[in-house]
Amino acid sequence: MPVVNVPCPFCGCLCDDIELMVHDGRIKSNRNGCAISKTKFLRHADDRLVGPSLRHSSGHELVSLATAVDHAARILSASKRPLVYGLSSTENDAHREAYRIAELVRGVVDNTSSVCHGPSILGTQDAGEPIGSLGEVRLRADLVVYWGSNPQVSHPRHLNRYTRPIGEFASKRTIWVVDVRRTVSAEAADAFYQIQPGHDLEVMSVLRALLRGHKLDCTEVGGLSIGQLQQMAESMRAAEYGVLFYGLGLTQSWGRHHNVDAAIRLVQELNEYAKWSMVPMRGHFNVAGANRTLTWTTGYPFAVDFSRGYPRYQPGEYTAVDLLQRGEVDALLNVAADPLASLPAAAVRHLRRIPVINLDPKRNLTSLIAEVNIPTAMAGIECDGVAVRMDGLPLYLRKVVEPPAGVLPDREVLRMIYDRMVSMR
Ligand code: SF4
Repeated sequence: MPVVNVPCPFCGCLCDDIELMVHDGRIKSNRNGCAISKTKFLRHADDRLVGPSLRHSSGHELVSLATAVDHAARILSASKRPLVYGLSSTENDAHREAYRIAELVRGVVDNTSSVCHGPSILGTQDAGEPIGSLGEVRLRADLVVYWGSNPQVSHPRHLNRYTRPIGEFASKRTIWVVDVRRTVSAEAADAFYQIQPGHDLEVMSVLRALLRGHKLDCTEVGGLSIGQLQQMAESMRAAEYGVLFYGLGLTQSWGRHHNVDAAIRLVQELNEYAKWSMVPMRGHFNVAGANRTLTWTTGYPFAVDFSRGYPRYQPGEYTAVDLLQRGEVDALLNVAADPLASLPAAAVRHLRRIPVINLDPKRNLTSLIAEVNIPTAMAGIECDGVAVRMDGLPLYLRKVVEPPAGVLPDREVLRMIYDRMVSMR
């Protein structure tokens, strides 16, 4: 049976034109998806957690779902400073259930944006958010700039779906890549500007100065000659619709949220001449949703502490890496993330000392050390829900096949943990 217009639940592009062929409850083919998408759909049944389990000294022992839920509820209820983390690879209703648990236990909730686009959020809180939709970029943009991003690797269909679609407009559109090294995306672009690592802020400040007509008494900035920078500023000013896509090369390099702040101010100034917008290249398919649902619920997008009974926001204080490195949390509820594989060594060292409750469809490094593992359905393949694309557009995720027997969506497992904790009080 063909299933069309399925959003791909892998990266922040959330390409919603995937065509699947489903036969006997199995996905047989994936049309339109990139190589990552094909692997995600066609091999969704590989490497699964085989069932709920508890860790003992000799390894993990399979238990019933009720026993695993009970154990998780006991760990969280006994904890003095629990952390709820992850959430960027699951759907919005699961987020809400996770926030209820964090509030009930007066813990901290943080999502993976604190280790990727957290600085983008801080930058937009300082200077605003001149965001545009991918649809209008595809139809209208004549100058596209990828800054600190390598979309051909991280978001493989971004160029050919939104900025270099086959056919219309492509000949009138110019694509630049600004990065510290020549990437495969730079090869696909019309121009590549190689800047020195850690000099994004200076380059953007000089572009702003040149746009205002200031004369500079130097010959180069951040690896680019003044002639190149002048040429860039003039092309940006001459664009009819420009867009700046920015990635972790901007948000996680020297300057972090100040870089994003500078980029926003550059785009604001460019709006004096023509329409310009900027869009973060969000990685996980629903990390933008995690920021939104947490903001709807608490007023803040990440790093939220409930210890006083009301939400408080403090990046650097309540962000997962900082809490773990300082050894402040005594239990972790991890939902749809793999912190053992992605956090710094000091944070991982503390993770190995505390009880970890891990909700995920697949085996991963975190599942190896978790005290409780509960397998869940894959959002967007085995359960429905809503996710938010990198430009802020909410999309409805489809359930295309049944999950393995007895495996429930994250939202239902989280609700069971919450109910069990309430019944223990
Ligand atoms: S670009 Fe991202 S969302 Fe689109 S098909 Fe590939 S992995 Fe899926």
